[in-house]
Amino acid sequence: MSVNESLSRNCYHPADTNHIVLQASLSEQQRVLLEKICPAGLFSRDAAGRVNVHFQGCLECGCCRLVAGDTTLKAWRYPPTGAGITLRFG
Ligand code: SF4
Repeated sequence: MSVNESLSRNCYHPADTNHIVLQASLSEQQRVLLEKICPAGLFSRDAAGRVNVHFQGCLECGCCRLVAGDTTLKAWRYPPTGAGITLRFG
């Protein structure tokens, strides 16, 4: 089973608000790190080079929080109760 097939089995309940907030100014190294670290590939750049996080698909794994830290992420919290991911295995 491919990673995409495995991820597609999960059930997502997106919240209205972003539970991951980036610092206002990021270095090129921080941007590249975010793009590489997320297993779901949720960080991408827009035409102006700004990094966006597509939080609706978050796996709540915490990799970005652990690796990038507070100097890159202004806030990381779990989505509100009733929102977020329901993992399905097999
Ligand atoms: S918590 Fe995991 S899935 Fe969610 S944005 Fe961070 S690295 Fe990606």
